[in-house]
Amino acid sequence: MALNRDPHVLVVGGSDSSGGAGIARDIETISSIGLRTCLAVTAVTVQTHQSVTAVHHIQPGLVADQMRAALRANKVLAIKMGMLSTAHVVEAVAAVLRENPRIPAVLDPVLASSSGRQLLEPEALGALKHDLMPLCRLMTPNLVELAMLTGSDLASDDDDALRQGRRLLAGGLQALLIKGGHAVGPRSTDILLSGGQEPVRLDMPRLAGSMRGTGCMLASAIAAYLAGAKPLEDSVREGKRLVFEELLRCTQHEASPDA
Ligand code: PLP
Repeated sequence: MALNRDPHVLVVGGSDSSGGAGIARDIETISSIGLRTCLAVTAVTVQTHQSVTAVHHIQPGLVADQMRAALRANKVLAIKMGMLSTAHVVEAVAAVLRENPRIPAVLDPVLASSSGRQLLEPEALGALKHDLMPLCRLMTPNLVELAMLTGSDLASDDDDALRQGRRLLAGGLQALLIKGGHAVGPRSTDILLSGGQEPVRLDMPRLAGSMRGTGCMLASAIAAYLAGAKPLEDSVREGKRLVFEELLRCTQHEASPDA
């Protein structure tokens, strides 16, 4: 078979042996929306749910080769990027995106694990901002990632987060979803900022529990909805709903007497 015509999302990211985050989460999420996944692995990590004990980077040429082969083999309708490890991998991924400008690309700018292990080398921030960001349909930073990307302190409130977000948009990014999930308060509010449009606030009740890999899930779900030709705002709303429902399921499971 020359080309698999099922709609696919190409996932570019790292493996997580615990299954809590990374490409395992991406594949589960995309599959739950009814699409298939093809892969370009950027790193192999050794993790439990508490810590990352080893990271093995994949050579940039091998990452680009995986992407090109996945694109040749399948009908790829969106690209989702997560852990990219090094500046050279970021540049290699950007080169393949430049060859495929019509495929919407979603970037979850994974900088570190929740346990604090660095997953993108600090020298790669420049390449991420200048080479990759302008090629993306959407980037999904949390408040810590937003501060790192803009070289600022952690945003103190919504207005501050918006100011930082606008600086990134001015650098050529098309749209930005600022995730407020790790902030405090009874609601979890994200802000969608697109060039030339008013910010859209998307909020959900904050749930008591926590779960790993929510960033991976959200960006993968948005990419899968974009692959289905949903407009950006609808894709983001649907993606948020999917993550909320999964969190709800997990918190109910944790709270159940036989959990
Ligand atoms: N490991 C990999 C390979 C990831 O891609 C990510 C996040 O995208 C993480 C770890 C971090 O996940 P968490 O913040 O849930 O620890």
